[in-house]
Amino acid sequence: VKQSPLGAGGEFDLIRRILAGAGTGPTEPWLQSQIRAGPGDDCAVIRDGIAVSVDMSVEDVHFRRDWLEPSEIGYRSAAAALSDLAAMAARPIGILAALAVPRREADLAAGIMEGVAAAAHDSGAALLGGDLSRSPDRVVLDVVALGHAPNPVMRSGARPGHSIWVTGSLGGAAAAVAAWEQGRSPSAAARQAFARPTPRVAEAAWLRERGVLHALIDLSDGLAGDASHLAAASDVGILLDTALVPVHPAAAEGHPAAALRLALHGGEDYELCLAAPAGAIEALAEQFRQTFQLPLTRVGSVIRGSGVALRAPGGSVAPAGAGGFDHFDGSEP
Ligand SMILES: [Mg+2]
Repeated sequence: VKQSPLGAGGEFDLIRRILAGAGTGPTEPWLQSQIRAGPGDDCAVIRDGIAVSVDMSVEDVHFRRDWLEPSEIGYRSAAAALSDLAAMAARPIGILAALAVPRREADLAAGIMEGVAAAAHDSGAALLGGDLSRSPDRVVLDVVALGHAPNPVMRSGARPGHSIWVTGSLGGAAAAVAAWEQGRSPSAAARQAFARPTPRVAEAAWLRERGVLHALIDLSDGLAGDASHLAAASDVGILLDTALVPVHPAAAEGHPAAALRLALHGGEDYELCLAAPAGAIEALAEQFRQTFQLPLTRVGSVIRGSGVALRAPGGSVAPAGAGGFDHFDGSEP
């Protein structure tokens, strides 16, 4: 099965170990012919361009129940799964949701599923099915997203000389989490970014139609970490200009270095990061901004080499290093 290499990090070391243990996958020719993309991209893609992804949300890992309304727990989880469809430039078809809640929490379950259905509706997807279970104490929600991508945009198409662009602005969701963790209430804009992210499905389709998407990923772990996956899959390096990174207004309220850290390493923005030939997007960017009321910003370039480097305004270059969200980084929260 076609696998795409991932970037550095404990979570991704564990995925590499699991995939190594799984062997080389099916060798039967019919089965091989059904699979166009396997592990390591945003979705698996099977023949005729059916794209599938799965995304899990665990209480006290991805959210706290006192931060969000039940419907928001459902909305953001489903939006995260749908964002992986956007990351292949796939058109959503439907979602399936498996939910576990503590006993006697029927209203909680109903509220969460109301949010799941709303996110599906907002992206033009149907609710196709699911599963409901009792949980000992925590909420666990697992969402499968199904879409159609006859010409999926993979992570592997970035080439030296391409430009790196991102949609929207970054660090808003992380600013909300930082506020809650410091015992403050996040601003309305930060809370919105965390609780009701918008999968960039229409934006990806618009860019794909114009032939400018050579590589694509969604920003779930933070720009630095997700760019490292794009770099690894494409066997290139990525140089990000820190002065160009569009910082979300809610993240920009603090010290500039802290704001940049939220934007580069915060995660859960669910914006898109793409590679396009140099000069290909400049002429489209203003039309994009007017169509979607959303920034489209060049943040760096693809270079020979590997990994992600940051170029400061003075010109000094340093490896981006760790700092994205990593479930298995070995440190305790
Ligand atoms: Mg993704």
